[in-house]
Amino acid sequence: MKLRFYILLVFICTFSFSVFAFVGLDNTHEILTYDTYEIFVDKKEPLRVHVSAEVRIKGDTLYMNPNCPNYDYPEGWTSFVKDLTITTLKGKPVSYEYVSKSKWVIEPNREEVLKLDYEVDLSFTKIRWDVGNEQAGFTDGKSVYTVSKALFIYSNMDSASMVSFNLPSQWNLAVPWNLMKDRNEYTFYVANRETLLENSLVYGDFHLEKIQHGAFQFTLALLGDARKDSELFNSILSKITRAYLKIFDKTPTSNYLVTMFYAALNDGESFNTSLTFTLKDPINEHNKIIWANQMAHELFHYWNSDLIIAENRTDRQWFSEGTAEYYANMTLIREGIIPESIFQNKVEKVLGLYQNYRGWREGKTSLLEAGKNKGVHRFLVYNGGWAVAMALDIEIIENSKGQKNLDDFMRSMFDKFSTTPYTYQDLVETASIVAGTDLTDFFAKYVEGTELLPLNEYLGKLGYTMLDIIYEAEMYLVKKSDDQLGLHDTWLRKKP
Ligand SMILES: [Zn+2]
Repeated sequence: MKLRFYILLVFICTFSFSVFAFVGLDNTHEILTYDTYEIFVDKKEPLRVHVSAEVRIKGDTLYMNPNCPNYDYPEGWTSFVKDLTITTLKGKPVSYEYVSKSKWVIEPNREEVLKLDYEVDLSFTKIRWDVGNEQAGFTDGKSVYTVSKALFIYSNMDSASMVSFNLPSQWNLAVPWNLMKDRNEYTFYVANRETLLENSLVYGDFHLEKIQHGAFQFTLALLGDARKDSELFNSILSKITRAYLKIFDKTPTSNYLVTMFYAALNDGESFNTSLTFTLKDPINEHNKIIWANQMAHELFHYWNSDLIIAENRTDRQWFSEGTAEYYANMTLIREGIIPESIFQNKVEKVLGLYQNYRGWREGKTSLLEAGKNKGVHRFLVYNGGWAVAMALDIEIIENSKGQKNLDDFMRSMFDKFSTTPYTYQDLVETASIVAGTDLTDFFAKYVEGTELLPLNEYLGKLGYTMLDIIYEAEMYLVKKSDDQLGLHDTWLRKKP
């Protein structure tokens, strides 16, 4: 096929950053090489963003992230890119052609760095996305939320980037990246391609709050009607974060962004160093089991998905979803965010569905295999993962005579596997080491195999009598008398 190249003449007189520079990060000085992206937003057209970039390149192809969850846009995020011009650093035009699937091919090129200028039309933030607007963008007319992959064109080199923003004065900016040392407050250092593209950001007039917990900094962004609920939202988010940081005491320095706005559905998306979720109903003290639980679940994925890395994506599903929901529920009760009665309802529901699905409906698929299709096997992946987390918590508490619990296992997984990915076998071994007993059989039966956990026994140890009708997915827990509570208080981490 004959390639047609369009020659574009451009005259650009914008300020160029040097792509080689000294920067100081964490008090060490090293020479870093990075791409630069300058983002300009004009008050008159807040949904039209101008990007001026200097990108290092090898070969002849430029890309955008191909994952766009909307069939109306078969060309994905490139559908929103307008007026792209490519030149050498000296301003010599470079011709290019767009080939499908979020790729541009440029003319044979000897330059190491190319200059790109383009506009991104963020009008898509105004429409409703079926998958949920947290996966694309949102605007309340005053501020704009967008996934970061909509903004950046990149080459095949996995470079670090410096991203800077030029916004109208008085506007706020919330991004999930660390400030670049010795630069202004709108210039950020982004360590790699994934952190650049798998994230989200907000600019404009919105509620912005920064919360510091040790090395972990939170930026909270609330848009639209959610702005007026900032106090309640913030107080609960702080409690949950503090609880998680106690478990993961070696959490690295990061600027984590949490964004929330109201939408048609309760939904959430966990990005590389950010989390966005949407809620259907206004938040209040009485519906915390819904919104605070959802927030706690998604936030836990920052540790168990993003920081604890798995070799195999499907193998880890029961573990990351199960523990995210387990820790969400447990943190809400342990921190006094929900009352025990609501917590008990939640446990009845989670385990009632697990028991029905595992013990009655689905006898062939193991929890481990269920990760291949977690939509279909939701009650194995989420509820089954939850049940295994509870059982492991009890196994560790019992075997260590109350000296250890599941938190120690999670901490150990984090300490061992935040740089090298873990395999399923690593997980089994780590659990066995923390429990001080060989748990190979336990995992063989309930995670690799299809046996139903003896829930009655485990719940008995936690001070509950279990009443159930398995084929109706019904379960009721009756709390035993005070002298028969067993591990109940230890399980809820109540101080003696
Ligand atoms: Zn999840």
